[in-house]
Amino acid sequence: MEPTDIKSQSLEELKKTVEALGEKPFRAKQLYEWMHVKLAKSFEEMTNLSMTFRGKLKESCILTTLTALDVQTSKIDGTQKYLFALHDGNVVESVLMRYKHGNSVCISSQVGCKMGCRFCASTIGGWTRNLTPAEMLEQVYRIQETSGERVSNVVVMGTGEPLDNYDTLLRFIHMISDENGLHISQRNITVSTCGLVPKMEALADEKLQITLALSLHASSQEKREALMPIAKKYTITQVLNACRNYYEKTGRRITFEYALVGGENDSQEDARRLAQLLKGLNCHVNLIPVNPIKERSYVRSDKKVIGNFQNKLEKYQINVTIRREMGRDIDGACGQLRKSYIDKKEDS
Ligand code: SAH
Repeated sequence: MEPTDIKSQSLEELKKTVEALGEKPFRAKQLYEWMHVKLAKSFEEMTNLSMTFRGKLKESCILTTLTALDVQTSKIDGTQKYLFALHDGNVVESVLMRYKHGNSVCISSQVGCKMGCRFCASTIGGWTRNLTPAEMLEQVYRIQETSGERVSNVVVMGTGEPLDNYDTLLRFIHMISDENGLHISQRNITVSTCGLVPKMEALADEKLQITLALSLHASSQEKREALMPIAKKYTITQVLNACRNYYEKTGRRITFEYALVGGENDSQEDARRLAQLLKGLNCHVNLIPVNPIKERSYVRSDKKVIGNFQNKLEKYQINVTIRREMGRDIDGACGQLRKSYIDKKEDS
């Protein structure tokens, strides 16, 4: 029999597991607390559970725990990049960003990615597998434990397309915001998607209080297709309608991510078209100067061009900010720490 992945189970499910092992259901609450509040890494630590019970757990269950293979710390702003090993030898990348309003962790949702966005390093090696709920939770848990500082915000913006791992994502959101766990407010959770329309519609019906971030990156269907293959499947019109629907059903303002790529999507005409597209939608635009990756020839827009783009949007009364770069000295583009690790391993 497959061992039970207990760290991915809700408290209700855990009660059943515990009962099946011949223990009283209240033990589930203690076990849940060890895993999701005290962030235990082994059954040995769980000293208020009997040795016999711990023995049974060890035999029939796994306690998913990630190990940090590498941690890089920025000398500029304290941002930390973590490279975590999974039990099967795969690796994922997560980032801790320290802001005045609290600590934010950016986590991965898949090993690799299928979406193929042209400027993104995470998708170059393709998709390997989905992460489990426990593996998503563990990225936050290990960072909180290692840094010794409470995590107050979570952004699902690392490697992978979260809506392509939909059930796991939902479970993750419920568990990380659960009052029996770390109890991170849903309002402090952001999920970023390249625009999987049917899943965006399903998510809207969940009526969660999370923020949805949509990776738009272009102001026309043609330009979006050139940067993001997924745009061929779901058009820019469909994606924006799904955003409107999300706002109507949840009351949550949409964030649009727009990576500025020099000479590709950063003209004044692009800004005007973008403003037109977003007219009347309660939203916020986050401009991200693209992080060049060595596999592609895309370049960052000039500072002046970025400023002009922002001004143009503001003229049309669009809420817009330029994303502050965190950890510039440890940064390659997102996904590059993992990629350089894999490249090194293949070379040796
Ligand atoms: N698959 C999801 C989440 C992961 S990517 C999504 O597409 O939204 C997180 C964000 O980083 C997305 O907006 C993505 O387009 C952006 N991104 C990826 N590579 C980038 C790069 N080289 N420079 C700037 N932004 C990048």
